[in-house]
Amino acid sequence: MPKGPSATLCSESLGKTGEFEFIRQIQKRFGFLHSQIIHGIGDDAAVLQPKAGDDLLVSTDLLIEDIHFTVHLHSFKEIGYRAAVANLSDIAAMGGSPQALLVGLAIPPQISRLNLTDLYRGLMEPCREHRVALIGGDTSRSPSGLFLSITILGKIKHGRSLTRTGAKISDHIYVTGTLGDSSAGLHLLQHRQEPRPSHTKRKGEAILRKRHLRPTARIDVGQQLVKYKLAHAAIDLSDGLSGDLNHLCQASGVGAELWATHIPVSTECQAYSQGHGQLPLDLAMRGGEDYELLFSAPAKNGQRIETISRSCNVPISCIGKIHPKEFGIRLKLADGSSRKIITTSFNHFTSLTSHH
Ligand code: ADP
Ligand code: MG
Repeated sequence: MPKGPSATLCSESLGKTGEFEFIRQIQKRFGFLHSQIIHGIGDDAAVLQPKAGDDLLVSTDLLIEDIHFTVHLHSFKEIGYRAAVANLSDIAAMGGSPQALLVGLAIPPQISRLNLTDLYRGLMEPCREHRVALIGGDTSRSPSGLFLSITILGKIKHGRSLTRTGAKISDHIYVTGTLGDSSAGLHLLQHRQEPRPSHTKRKGEAILRKRHLRPTARIDVGQQLVKYKLAHAAIDLSDGLSGDLNHLCQASGVGAELWATHIPVSTECQAYSQGHGQLPLDLAMRGGEDYELLFSAPAKNGQRIETISRSCNVPISCIGKIHPKEFGIRLKLADGSSRKIITTSFNHFTSLTSHH
C-alpha cells in the first residue's frame, strides 16, 4: 500500500510510535514461526515452504464494526477471538490443518493501542492452540469504524479436501455439538437480564454467552473425517442450519430431509427458549455463528463417526438424510408431518436492499 499522510495511522490511535512501532510490537509479541514458515512479519511478503503432496487452503473473512461485532457487546479480546475462530472454522470445514494467518486492520481514531493489543491477544489465543502463526497483514487508519480482514492459510493432503459439492443421495446428515447456543448467547448480551435470576439460570446463561463469545472451531473432527475418508461433503455453520444446509444442497445438486427430533439443542438453550417464548428448534435452525460442522456421509460410516465423536470428545448427531433435488429441503416434525424449510438466515445483501 502506498505510504502518505492518509495511509499512516493518526496519532490518536497509536500514539507517537506510529504504525511501524505498532507492527514491530505485534511481531515481537505474536509473530512466532513454525517449520513451514521461512519468513514471517517484516518483509514485503512472507515466505512459506509447503510440503510436497499438500494442497494449500486459503480463506478470507471481512469483519465490520456494527455488522459482525459491536464494541458495546464485545470486548476487543472477544472480537479477536471470534474473528480467529470464524477463520479456523473454514479450514476445519475443509478437513484441513490451519497454518498461518494475515490480518488487515483499519483503525478508527478512538481505538487505543491497548485495545489493539487486546484484539491480537484474543486473536492469537485459539491460533496458538493450533500452532497457527501470524505471518503478516496491513494497517491503515479508518475515518470511522473498525475493519478487520483476516486471511487464513491451511494445508491438506492433495485431493482430500472436504468440499460442499460431494453430498450423495441417501447419505446421512450429521452435525457436531449443539445448535442455537451462540444466537441465544448473543440475545442475552443484547438484553438486560432480570435482577435476580436463580443460580441454575445464571449458570446456563453464562454458558450460552460463552458459546457466543468464545466459540470452538471443530478442527479435530474435520481432520479425522478426512483421515478416515468418512464424509462426502461438509460446511461449517456460520449462517444457521437452514441456510448452510441449503448452501451444501445447492452445491451438491441434492435435496435433504432433516428430522426435528434429532437436532441437538443444549439443555441451556432449551431453558433459554422456554424463558423467552421461543422454540428451541427455531433457534437451532436459524441461529448463526455456532461454528459447528455439518457434513454428509454414507450411512455405513455411522459407527466410525461415533468413534470419532468419542475420540474428539465432541457430540455428533445424525439429523437427517440426503434426497434427490426434486425432494427439496424439508423438515420432518415429531408428529410425522413434514414441511418445507424456508431459508431465513441472515443475508447482508438482502438486508441492504430491503433498506433502500
Ligand atoms: P508494505 O508497505 O509492504 O505494505 P507494511 O509496512 O505495511 O509493508 O508491513 C510491514 C510488515 O508488517 C509486513 O510483513 C506486513 O505483512 C506486516 N504487517 C502490517 N500490518 C500488520 C498487521 N496489522 N498485523 C500483522 N502484520 C502486519
Ligand atoms: Mg502495508
